Amino acid sequence: MKTKWIGLMSVFCLLLGQWSWSEEAPPIEQWKDKTVLVFTPHPDDETLQCAGILSMLTSNGNKVIVGIYTNDDKGSLDLEMTSERLARIRRVEEEAACAELGIPKENLVWFGYGDGNLEYADPQRLRGEAARLIKKYRPDAIFTVDPGSDYERWHKTDHRMAAFITKDAFIAAEWHLYYPQQLLDEGLKPYRIPMAYYYYTDKPNCIVDITKIIDKKVKAVAKHVSQFPPSVDKYTPEMSPEAYNQIKVDVEKEAKDGERFVERFRREVAP
Ligand SMILES: [Zn+2]
Repeated sequence: MKTKWIGLMSVFCLLLGQWSWSEEAPPIEQWKDKTVLVFTPHPDDETLQCAGILSMLTSNGNKVIVGIYTNDDKGSLDLEMTSERLARIRRVEEEAACAELGIPKENLVWFGYGDGNLEYADPQRLRGEAARLIKKYRPDAIFTVDPGSDYERWHKTDHRMAAFITKDAFIAAEWHLYYPQQLLDEGLKPYRIPMAYYYYTDKPNCIVDITKIIDKKVKAVAKHVSQFPPSVDKYTPEMSPEAYNQIKVDVEKEAKDGERFVERFRREVAP
């Protein structure tokens, strides 16, 4: 009887376009007509870690929004490069990488913080900006950097801050008195996030098979031309066949899991 009732409830929830977050929820590879919000410290982390699943989600008719904390304006060894020019280059590259994954540039939200400076931004303001995005798009799931135990000690400053501030924004989005003006002035109602997928994790509990789309992931990563030699040393918009092949080797090595290619996440379901 109980099983039957749960089954009926699941059908009801699916008819409403939602589901109860239990074992009844379909795996993310089967999602349709859902909204996923991705937070990334730099314009490339989400490509490196989530390109396969994001491509799968857009192919299945889901909406993907990407919130990008920094403009990545420091990562060049080219002594002729300026921060302003690099930020422009990185933006075009991110738009191209996302387009490869079926995410239009209108779905990219640039927070505009300087590379390496996220930890020195006003955290109250930053958390409010992240909460605003959550309340605006009301996603079925969020992808963000894992704020797990070892991570904050060892990882790069922007990654640490992105991990913590996004997690803190979950709570701020849920309770309207955190940023009351967002409701009063902008009509943004509070929202509770049902599910999170953490990337850059050392405790994965969700493995997504991306074998069929590994080539698409390689292509998307390769759009970040200025991040790789020789362009990172002396900027050129061209990617040589040798550089492309090296990216392919590195992406496949990272994704290799026996006979298949995968992406790894720590999945957390709201209680
Ligand atoms: Zn990064």
